[in-house]
Amino acid sequence: MKKATKAAALGLAAVMMAAALTACGGKTDTNKADDTAASGTQTQQTDASAPAQEQGETPAAGGTLTFGTNAEFPPFEFVAGSGVIDQYDGIDMAIAKKIAEENGMTAAVENMEFDSLLIALHNGQIDAAIAGMTVTEERKEQADFSTPYYTATQVMIVKEDSTIASAADMADKKICVIQGYTGEICVKDLGYPYEAFKKGTDAIMELVNGKCDVVVIDSATAQKYVGDNEGLKIVEDAAAFESEEYAIAVKKGNTELLNKINQSIEGMLSDGTVAELGAQYIEAISAE
Ligand code: GLN
Repeated sequence: MKKATKAAALGLAAVMMAAALTACGGKTDTNKADDTAASGTQTQQTDASAPAQEQGETPAAGGTLTFGTNAEFPPFEFVAGSGVIDQYDGIDMAIAKKIAEENGMTAAVENMEFDSLLIALHNGQIDAAIAGMTVTEERKEQADFSTPYYTATQVMIVKEDSTIASAADMADKKICVIQGYTGEICVKDLGYPYEAFKKGTDAIMELVNGKCDVVVIDSATAQKYVGDNEGLKIVEDAAAFESEEYAIAVKKGNTELLNKINQSIEGMLSDGTVAELGAQYIEAISAE
């Protein structure tokens, strides 16, 4: 399996078609149901009462396409004064808007905890989840995923004077992760104790205040936090953290909507729209 390079981690155009679905370290333990962000949905798989929408139905043209997200993940989704969809801005929000528009629909956003996204999808509360969501084998049991549109990797954020130079150096350090993110799964797989926070910014504050030694989080989001906070740096370990791919999730079996989304994503990948959006939002972050 391919290891992440810096270029691949930051390159929107470099979507690797050979998906690395394990998120970290090449450990494919698909039996670990408790590792999934939405393990709670497992007992609901046979629940036939989808409240908001009929099972697998695509909203009709002219209707609203509701995307669930967790707007705490810049540059992919964050709350802004005025965003591309209501107050929501970022690479994913711009992609979501284009998908809806290309299909004659209006995009709406429901902001929720990352852990709730696949459950909301299952319940029909949202039509699709777009949240910098890494495709993993566990999540594929809960939802269907689109063509990937971004390649990322987990990195470590540490204080500038930290001695941490590799993932193994975290063994005796205080590690912070964000609950339900692939970073948590990776640290768990490495077998190290950690503390999980609800928000990336909370974990970063812990690091800034010297209450933890390292935050494990996705590469582009790490760049944003390091840019926003003095005295932090990014440490990469491509051997410990494999590349991950972000994709849009739909309810299992909703092939009609998935096909529409895939058509739009593939168009945006081949005409350079996704790469442009990436450059635009990542540049905006560095310029702040
Ligand atoms: N890529 C990470 C994951 O899928 C984090 C996503 C997010 O926080 N929005 O777990």
